[in-house]
Amino acid sequence: MPEWLGQRRITYESDLDPGFAREIAALPGGDKLVGCIQCGTCSGTCPVSPYMDYTPRRLVAMTRAGYKYEVLRSFTIWLCSSCYACTVECPKQIKITDFMYALKRRAIAEKVYPKRFPVAIMAREFFKMVEKHGRNREGGLAVRLFLRTNPLKLFYHGGFALRLWLRGRVGLVPDAIKRTGELKTILHALNHDDAPAAGRRGAA
Ligand code: SF4
Ligand code: SF4
Repeated sequence: MPEWLGQRRITYESDLDPGFAREIAALPGGDKLVGCIQCGTCSGTCPVSPYMDYTPRRLVAMTRAGYKYEVLRSFTIWLCSSCYACTVECPKQIKITDFMYALKRRAIAEKVYPKRFPVAIMAREFFKMVEKHGRNREGGLAVRLFLRTNPLKLFYHGGFALRLWLRGRVGLVPDAIKRTGELKTILHALNHDDAPAAGRRGAA
């Protein structure tokens, strides 16, 4: 049983945030969430739902009900592997995978993602790296990930990284595209243009 299942807290009706459901519904494709019939096909299809703290079906229901605290802090959104199985099978054509991405971006924007949980850290660091250089650098990303999650892994994987470097598979010098300023302008526009209050930064 996943260890995070023991972290539930009691939620009272006064804790709910009805505005949260409206914000998520305002995102592209989010309006279809209201049409969810709670059939559970998404949860039954999802290959990683046994490891989630809330199944995809339940996450949709909780979002509509305004369980903002639980939804944004859930491990479910970070365990989603973006396989799109749920999206393909949903009888109401709800884009659940995109919904997961929206929740990830929102969690990063509000800084409420699970601390030291590798997937969330990697998503944030990946975005920051691409924003700065226009490209991902696997070596740099791995170092940042380990420093922010488990620094001891730097020693554990050091030998492997050295072998990759000796074979020219990873570099030490940052590789960047030209005109990174223009990329930043585009990303800034995507983050702040006509986006709802929900954050758009972060998860790719
Ligand atoms: S498959 Fe679609 S309609 Fe069924 S519970 Fe999941 S999101 Fe709702
Ligand atoms: S896209 Fe995510 S939520 Fe949907 S089936 Fe795949 S892993 Fe599960």
